[in-house]
Amino acid sequence: MIVCVSELLCFVSNDLLCCVYLCLNQLGPAYLGMELGVGETVLMKAVAQATGRQLDKIKAEAQEKGDLGLVAESSRSNQRMMFQPASLTAGGVFRKLKEIASMSGNSAMNKKIDIIKGLFVACRFSEARYIVRSLAGKLRIGLAEQSVLSALSQAVCLTPPGQGFPPAVIDAGKGMSAESRRAWIEEKISPLRHHNLFTPSNSLTTCLLPGVPLRPMLAHPTKGVGEVMKKFDEAAFTCEYKYDGERAQIHILESGEVRIFSRNQEDNTSKYPDIISRIPKVKKDSVVSCVLDSEAVAWDREKKQIQPFQVLTTRKRKDVDASEIKVQVCVYAFDLLYLNGESLVRQPLCRRRALLRESFSEVEGEFVFARSIDSDNTDTIAEFLEQSVRDSCEGLMVKTLEKDATYEIAKRSHNWLKLKKDYLEGVGDTVDLCVIGAYLGKGKRTGTYGGFLLACYDDENEEFQSVCKIGTGFKDEDLEQHYKFLKDHILPKPRAYYRFDQSAEPDVWLDAVQVWEVKCADLSLSPVYKAAMGMVDPEKGISLRFPRFLRIRDDKKPEDATTGAQVHHITCAGRKQNNV
Ligand code: AMP
Repeated sequence: MIVCVSELLCFVSNDLLCCVYLCLNQLGPAYLGMELGVGETVLMKAVAQATGRQLDKIKAEAQEKGDLGLVAESSRSNQRMMFQPASLTAGGVFRKLKEIASMSGNSAMNKKIDIIKGLFVACRFSEARYIVRSLAGKLRIGLAEQSVLSALSQAVCLTPPGQGFPPAVIDAGKGMSAESRRAWIEEKISPLRHHNLFTPSNSLTTCLLPGVPLRPMLAHPTKGVGEVMKKFDEAAFTCEYKYDGERAQIHILESGEVRIFSRNQEDNTSKYPDIISRIPKVKKDSVVSCVLDSEAVAWDREKKQIQPFQVLTTRKRKDVDASEIKVQVCVYAFDLLYLNGESLVRQPLCRRRALLRESFSEVEGEFVFARSIDSDNTDTIAEFLEQSVRDSCEGLMVKTLEKDATYEIAKRSHNWLKLKKDYLEGVGDTVDLCVIGAYLGKGKRTGTYGGFLLACYDDENEEFQSVCKIGTGFKDEDLEQHYKFLKDHILPKPRAYYRFDQSAEPDVWLDAVQVWEVKCADLSLSPVYKAAMGMVDPEKGISLRFPRFLRIRDDKKPEDATTGAQVHHITCAGRKQNNV
């Protein structure tokens, strides 16, 4: 896939940025939050009007096929046209999409429908399918940002820019052996992986700038101190508390302006006026601009202690007035990614951490450095892990300090391992799963749902794979809340991209809209569940045993659910540890 996209991008001259965004099904950088504002009904209306078909027919067919794109494509063949409009171009389509997004006000919907109709009548071949899917925000071509970035890097590497069109050198790696070609490409593109692809000016550059959020580095789950020691072997590492709050990427701009971004690059600046107002107090004079990585955690000022994550979720999300804040937060800073005009992501953590500590001062309950120990003694680490739990944290983050210790943007890196408290209770790491179905409750649970079908997300195939049925861990209020919320997301039939076995079909299918954190006692191979199918066994998938509901993860989108590959990884780690 990456090679195909790379070959496509090699031949794009003017509209490279448009092509990249079209591949990503985005209108611009995620943090600008540009939305098309086209609902499904409006899209159906446009398809109906453009093809002269009845809206009801379109609706029924879309329900049946589960993909309005396919309906649009097949409807096109019914059209008769006197004049064939000019062919669509990538740039032209992208500009129309942006025009749609910019429209607001009374007659916006009709104008949007007109533009969609215009696009639609000019479609050839299968273009209608992909344009409609783009408009619906479900392109489903199996490309995530990292794959597009790899493809783009390869294209730049093989077909050097600035050659004119058509390019004279299309494959600068021609003649090399497959092995050396791969190594050569990897060497050239690896620096690009560590940068931000999109800047506010909407140009394709690779840079890190205060004010532009970057996709954060994430950690791999591990099952115990033993696994950590084995993984890091000789490497120097540090263990930090894993705080249970919300990631806060704090940007201090040269102008003095402070902006805060979430894990998903949403702009949380107006949510945290309290954090913003304390920055001048904690920042040393030497800091002109910087990007900090930190966790904002609910804090009880009287008891001087951390409060659970649930308390933080009760805080207002936008336009918070500092004088009305009830839930106080403390910032736990753990990384520095940029300082005074210089990106630090290629520097090892020991250097970044030293600069962080030099550049800021701590204020109790407001801004402190993540608590850490640099020890390779198993007992000391185990004791620190227990202490972290007593201090209301989730466990530890274990990070390499010197070798292989760069900050890897947007990666779930093996240089960061998470060791959660569940390990202490003798069970594995928690997983974040998407609810895709429900079973009607019986006995005491009559009138609500009594159990649910959960799925992990397979990012390669862009599908949700069933992983277990869950019925424990719910308080009565939880069940009520889930019923109220989920009943509005019932589907007449499963989505085409749900993988499940008929023997575990739920009573109702649900749209994948909510992620739950779930704890399990074990994972096992299963002929019924489909998680990570093909990775351990050609026929069987992995299922969770004795799953227990912990909480809703509102901060995660369905596509952020634990992946099949991660479930597989946890299984392998567990087997090795138990010498299975
Ligand atoms: P998870 O969501 O379980 O994959 O854990 C990763 C999250 O832990 C990050 O996105 C941070 O929000 C949070 N976190 C808490 N403490 C730390 C820390 N010391 N270092 C890195 N991330 C942390």
